[in-house]
Amino acid sequence: MDLGIKNRVALIMASSSGLGKSIARRFLMEGATVMLASRNEEMLNRAVQELTDDTSVTPYYTVCDITKGEQIKNLVRSTTEKLGPISILVNNAGGPPAGTFDTFDDEAWQKAFELNLLSYVRTTREVLPFMKVQKWGRIVNSTSSSVKQVIENLILSNTLRLGVIGLTKTLSQELAPYNILINAIGPGRFDTQRIRQLDQALAVKRGVSADEISREAMNQIPLGRYGHPDEYARLAVFLCSEANSYITGQTILADGGMVKAVL
Ligand code: NAP
Repeated sequence: MDLGIKNRVALIMASSSGLGKSIARRFLMEGATVMLASRNEEMLNRAVQELTDDTSVTPYYTVCDITKGEQIKNLVRSTTEKLGPISILVNNAGGPPAGTFDTFDDEAWQKAFELNLLSYVRTTREVLPFMKVQKWGRIVNSTSSSVKQVIENLILSNTLRLGVIGLTKTLSQELAPYNILINAIGPGRFDTQRIRQLDQALAVKRGVSADEISREAMNQIPLGRYGHPDEYARLAVFLCSEANSYITGQTILADGGMVKAVL
């Protein structure tokens, strides 16, 4: 299938590692022009090197803390000046800390709001004028399987990410006249740094080994294993492509069948 996104400018947030980096790799393989964005420049440089080795195409990068509105404005401005109008946006972020209701004060809630919800609002606000002029745009908001089934010890994620689903559905209605399609996707359990940290945190809480937690988690997944980040990337890239011309406002999980909810 021709995904039809050759030379389109794709901005991938939180993309120096894990799922974001894998999504960037797939876009590069499809011939899109890719801008990576995250905080640590050394990690970004390593990601650029790795992605170039893998695909023979070099992505661009900008250092950006997505919790800072000014930095997002600068990121979008400099990307369009350098590469042309952005027509694809993948919103992604670091995960909020693990913990239960008693663990977090107002400051922690505010931080999680800025990282996992407000950053998505801000990037979308900045890129929309370019998409509207093009009468073509694709946005994917990456969330978590927690939007369909809450996850133990992750109250910040369980709460904030549902805001992204409301945002996505509402924007799908407002943006359809401009041929801008927006969807949310959610990972179940993919083998990344984040999942290894969460398994470790739960292991400490329960007083067992991280391996035991991983084994237990895999037993809950009908496909019997954690996903490979590229299996998530392919979903994101399809939704952001020309091949997707009629799917908007949806929330789709890639979870190996883990979540048992019907809708
Ligand atoms: P990861 O491997 O830890 O990668 C996180 C990325 O986000 C890094 O590139 C990191 O780079 C960047 N980042 C973090 N805070 C940032 C900030 N303030 N500004 C800009 N970039 C920032 O995590 P992952 O597994 O790919 O997960 C990505 C997201 O999906 C997380 O929100 C996670 O909770 C969620 N998720 C993942 C899974 C899974 O199976 N992996 C499951 C459910 C939900 P810097 O630190 O250099 O900024």
